[in-house]
Amino acid sequence: MTAMLEARNLSVSYGKLTAVKDVSFAVEEGKIATIIGPNGAGKTTLLKALIGQLPSVGTITYGGADFGKTEVEARVERGVVLVPETRELFTDMVVADNLLLGAYVHRRKAAQVKEDFDRVYELFPRLRERRAQLAGTLSGGERQMLALGRALMGRPRLLMLDEPSLGLAPLIVREIFRIIAKLGEEGVTMLLVEQNARAALETADYGYVLESGELVHQGQASDLMRDPKVMATYLGRSAS
Ligand code: ATP
Repeated sequence: MTAMLEARNLSVSYGKLTAVKDVSFAVEEGKIATIIGPNGAGKTTLLKALIGQLPSVGTITYGGADFGKTEVEARVERGVVLVPETRELFTDMVVADNLLLGAYVHRRKAAQVKEDFDRVYELFPRLRERRAQLAGTLSGGERQMLALGRALMGRPRLLMLDEPSLGLAPLIVREIFRIIAKLGEEGVTMLLVEQNARAALETADYGYVLESGELVHQGQASDLMRDPKVMATYLGRSAS
């Protein structure tokens, strides 16, 4: 198994506060890895360090090469795309134009961009229906679809998702995770960060549990779902 992304002994601090402590993990090519953990565990901080928005101590390797000092733009150019928790859509632009902007992280031929539009609209028929609507007027679920669709327009090699279920109704969460699973089946490598442990573990191949900045459990996602300690803490069931 080849690791597409590997972090070794990674720490990230805000001044005196160390939000991520000595964390090591890997994302295998063609697999979905998830990092689950409660509010404030350091999940967003970790993703920001991986994309290069925050400085970190330790090693980040991507495709076998050192990645730790690479600029944000160069990371994106090499196929690492983050869908942030805040979605960061251009709210005063229509759906189709938001998607188009996602295509221009690389220099692309018009025919390829057309292909990507078709693929995204096939995955999200709702976005096709709403293509002429301002992004700012979309529902929460549609915004998450647009954020995902925009990331896919850049044909990512590694897609990092920060809490795609945040603020969404259970039915919409299921729909978003169905699409994440479908992308996984198509071979898109993903790092999925979630508070919704059940949805994340059901979808991922491998899981890590982050607590107060430290990794406290890891294993095959299906094993973690059966682990009484993980179950009790994160899945709201008793350990017995
Ligand atoms: P959530 O699920 O609530 O988004 P999280 O697991 O993503 O939580 P982080 O946002 O990474 O957690 O925060 C980890 C810790 O770092 C928290 O204690 C938070 O208060 C702190 N923190 C986050 N951003 C900053 C910042 N810019 N300056 C100082 N401390 C910060």
